[in-house]
Amino acid sequence: NTRILLDNRPRGEASVSNFRIETVETPPLAEGQVLVRHHYLSLDPYMRGRMNDAKSYAEPQPLGEVMIGGTVGEVVESRHPRYAPGDQVVGMGGWQQYSVVDASQPGALRKVDTTHVPLSHYLGAVGMPGVTAWYGLVKIIDPKPGQTVTVSAASGAVGSAVGALAKARGCRVVGIAGGPDKCAYVKDELGFDDCIDYRQHRDYPSLAKALKQACPHGIDGHFENVGGMVLDAVMLRTNPFARMAVCGMIAGYDGQPLPMANPALILINRLRVEGFIVSEHMEVWPEALAELAELVGSGRFRPRETVAHGIESAPEAFLGLLKGRNFGKQLVKLV
Ligand code: NDP
Repeated sequence: NTRILLDNRPRGEASVSNFRIETVETPPLAEGQVLVRHHYLSLDPYMRGRMNDAKSYAEPQPLGEVMIGGTVGEVVESRHPRYAPGDQVVGMGGWQQYSVVDASQPGALRKVDTTHVPLSHYLGAVGMPGVTAWYGLVKIIDPKPGQTVTVSAASGAVGSAVGALAKARGCRVVGIAGGPDKCAYVKDELGFDDCIDYRQHRDYPSLAKALKQACPHGIDGHFENVGGMVLDAVMLRTNPFARMAVCGMIAGYDGQPLPMANPALILINRLRVEGFIVSEHMEVWPEALAELAELVGSGRFRPRETVAHGIESAPEAFLGLLKGRNFGKQLVKLV
């Protein structure tokens, strides 16, 4: 079992030298345990926060242990009555090829059906990022048909699902993404009404001008994944009583400061701004996953993936994700 551990904590920007790779034997199974062979590892922005020792909503990743991470794979050996070899499962197996899981722990493993939804999508559109999109859109923004919803990091795992869910609710959906290829994909393949390339704009007033054209009736709901210039521009275009779901601030994850240009707009436009953490809302997962599986299974939502190959490629792929080098859900294929 080859695996990747957190070796030391980043000072400022994360780098490959923060990780260490090792190969170990998998231990024999105890009663109630299951051995899972991972097919895909999920790489997610939240992992950057876990690499720090700072106080946050989640405990830091301990040094010298396998990096935390979502995985999908196949049961290869089981000493638990509910699991048999061949079962396809989602879990939190971490950055390694195999994991030994205590299958009776609630939520440790979930069997999945790959008849209509490919296995890898259970780490993306029909998994944690999809539910994140669903919670922020449905529970915080709660848009009405005809309203305008914007989302940043629009081509990504979460952003693309926000768009699909908002289109299904009859909204005008405008994305913000980095580069012409991502914007073309967001419009042509994901079916957003428009998408703005923030890299074409040097400052937030210029980006706000582009948003004005794309959102002629203003912005009623915004799903924030980035922070900084993008958020400042969106805030200028919000309508009175607009709602903002604050999901992520990836522009600041390597320690960059993210000042807000015009916080007074929260008052002036009577904005409702709400942050959330998807793992604190387990009650919505079944409903959210059912809708997302239906959208993906029916072909109405075709999520995109960027796949790195082999466990040893995980650190480099993860650093790429933090720099926007991924295009859609970032995965590592292990089998
Ligand atoms: P994505 O697939 O969206 O990948 C990250 C994307 O962020 C990049 O592709 C890039 O897209 C964009 N990005 C990176 N750096 C910057 C930057 N400096 N400025 C602007 N954009 C940048 O990742 P996810 O869909 O997995 O995550 C999206 C967001 O959702 C993250 O902020 C993440 O932390 C958050 N999240 C929050 C959860 C919660 O419970 N609150 C749960 C899951 C995710 P581009 O090239 O278009 O800029």
